[in-house]
Amino acid sequence: MKYCRFIKEGKPVYGLVELVAGANAITAVLSAAPWETETHPPQKISPTKLADATVLAPVTPSKIVCVGRNYRAHAAELGNDVPVEPLIFLKPPTSIINPGDNIRRPLASERTDYEGELGVVIGRRCFKLKAGNDVRPYILGYTAVNDFTARDLQKKDGQWARAKGFDTFCPVGPLVTDEIDPWAGVKVRTHVNGEVKQDGSTRDLIFAVDVVIRYISNIMTLLPGDLIATGTPEGVGAVLAGDLVEVEVEGVGVLKNPVIDDKN
Ligand code: MG
Repeated sequence: MKYCRFIKEGKPVYGLVELVAGANAITAVLSAAPWETETHPPQKISPTKLADATVLAPVTPSKIVCVGRNYRAHAAELGNDVPVEPLIFLKPPTSIINPGDNIRRPLASERTDYEGELGVVIGRRCFKLKAGNDVRPYILGYTAVNDFTARDLQKKDGQWARAKGFDTFCPVGPLVTDEIDPWAGVKVRTHVNGEVKQDGSTRDLIFAVDVVIRYISNIMTLLPGDLIATGTPEGVGAVLAGDLVEVEVEGVGVLKNPVIDDKN
């Protein structure tokens, strides 16, 4: 199943996404969030191309849990050792923006980087999963995330709340799908102004999605709609005002966001 969130008659609603004539289209409106028990069946609408809809970030999570240095080549490119257990940090939900929205570079930073990542959306509350527990029943699906980062502030501060937490630093979307398999390998690519900068596969994750979910669930309760950003492949780099960042996750689509300078 694939779903999105979009504006219909001035209001945000969840929509079912299906292939119509070879392109993703919204074919029905859900009466509730996809992780809630539906009280009414999806209401069919005349198909609207996803590309023509006002698409919103497909999640409104209680928290965004991110994994740092989860690809060997990326840890190496920033001169870091590979962690021996998942290295996690949080981004605030207020950092989320929609596909197409501007990423604002804060005045406080001189170096802001894109980080294209596979996002995991939680579908069922989970806490203290054990080694033998299958994580798949807790996963609603997957999306694309740009874990935008003020790299200079990350180095300066030692902890990452500021560097990772500015408003607009978490573009998400355009849809959520359960039709891909990160364990088998999902391509994660980032383009800046049309040029490929990152070209990775989730096959190369140091800590696979099941390890990450179990690890986090032993620290904090994961709630339906929560978002996990699984880490970025090698090839991170700086962007400036006027650049266009596109994070492409195979099976999800392309998450496009222009970069502008914050004025104050
Ligand atoms: Mg990251």
